Amino acid sequence: MSNYTKIVLKSGKDQSLKRFHPWVFSGAIKKIYGQVNEGDTVTVFSNKDEFLGIGHYQIGSIAVRVFSFEEITPDTDFWKNKLKSAFKLRQSLGYTNNSSTNVYRLVYAEGDGLPGLIIDMYNDTAVMQMHSIGMYIMRHEIAAYLKEIMGDALTAVYDKSAKTLPFKADIEPVNQYLLGQAEPGIVLEYGNQFKIDWVEGQKTGFFIDQRENRRLLQEYSNGREVLNMFCYTGGFSFFAMRGNAKLVHSVDSSGKAIDLTRENVELNFPGDSRHEAIVADAFEYLKDIKDKYDLIVLDPPAFAKHRSALSHALQGYKKINARAFEQIRPGGIVFTFSCSQAVSRDKFREAVFSAAAIAKRNVRVLHQLSQPADHPVNIYHPEGEYLKGLVLYVE
Ligand code: SAH
Repeated sequence: MSNYTKIVLKSGKDQSLKRFHPWVFSGAIKKIYGQVNEGDTVTVFSNKDEFLGIGHYQIGSIAVRVFSFEEITPDTDFWKNKLKSAFKLRQSLGYTNNSSTNVYRLVYAEGDGLPGLIIDMYNDTAVMQMHSIGMYIMRHEIAAYLKEIMGDALTAVYDKSAKTLPFKADIEPVNQYLLGQAEPGIVLEYGNQFKIDWVEGQKTGFFIDQRENRRLLQEYSNGREVLNMFCYTGGFSFFAMRGNAKLVHSVDSSGKAIDLTRENVELNFPGDSRHEAIVADAFEYLKDIKDKYDLIVLDPPAFAKHRSALSHALQGYKKINARAFEQIRPGGIVFTFSCSQAVSRDKFREAVFSAAAIAKRNVRVLHQLSQPADHPVNIYHPEGEYLKGLVLYVE
């Protein structure tokens, strides 16, 4: 361990690490002993020279992402065990060998003690997204360890980190297969088929995190006229159709997303005339839907990517929710979400409640939603809980 660059924190800045929070902010650092490069493994000590943790160094506001609070050497066994533990959890949850759902998150960064690393499984293809240089440097090892752990259940590993790595890093990441090769194919979620393109698609190709919420929507859809706003691959739409919705309109501002939605609906419900997909801007479309729908899904992109954009984001949530509340038919249901990490559960609720007041409607909360079990939240890292949703009854 002594070979790693030592970082000492300012007095009083060791508290969060002592509570196992895995981030060291750059402002907390008192001194770096020696030369350090992005992606290097560093050890972190308090001002009183107490060992606090070991992690990856990076230039930016989060300077160190701690992967162990014990004085260990991060050797092959260390990383293999971490990956094994993530795999074991998914196995125990029933994701790894499931005939109706074969798309799941295998590694969720801090949630699995692997800050900076995301791995999503699309049947037997793993798609990795690194958010730290330390993890990126290890990408080939990680792919090899995964293969060892998963055996025949893994045939390809695709690295899709080009857009998620910090721009300051002096590397030129290229998206590519690290193991095998695969054609973007069809995966299953609760028996529904999704055509996934991890090469061209958003994130790793699919919003896996809405699985349980899509399923809940199915329960509420019987006989309803549904608007799925921000539909992307159309997931909420065909869960609504599966739930016997009378009509489903899918809206997204991206033409590509609308093509994907059409393709996916056709795959699951060939020739079904209940569905229509529309390219439109949400703020425009929501202006003129008075009494047209009695079930509305609002699943916008992260309005606040950073804390600085918070108040603007909250205005955005307030505005779209107010429009939905104003116009939904009496007795309607709204599924509304925020996936911005910077927006807390309370702030999101406040924005939605103000929207209800603006619309002057009686609104009751039926469910409070979050992310599924394959996106576990490290109890010492509450920031990992990013998906928030409310199911509301609008009288
Ligand atoms: N509900 C989806 C995920 C939504 S992701 C699912 O279950 O998979 C957010 C989507 O919002 C993206 O597809 C993006 O193209 C779309 N989008 C972003 N800004 C928009 C706007 N102003 N109006 C309509 N759609 C928008």
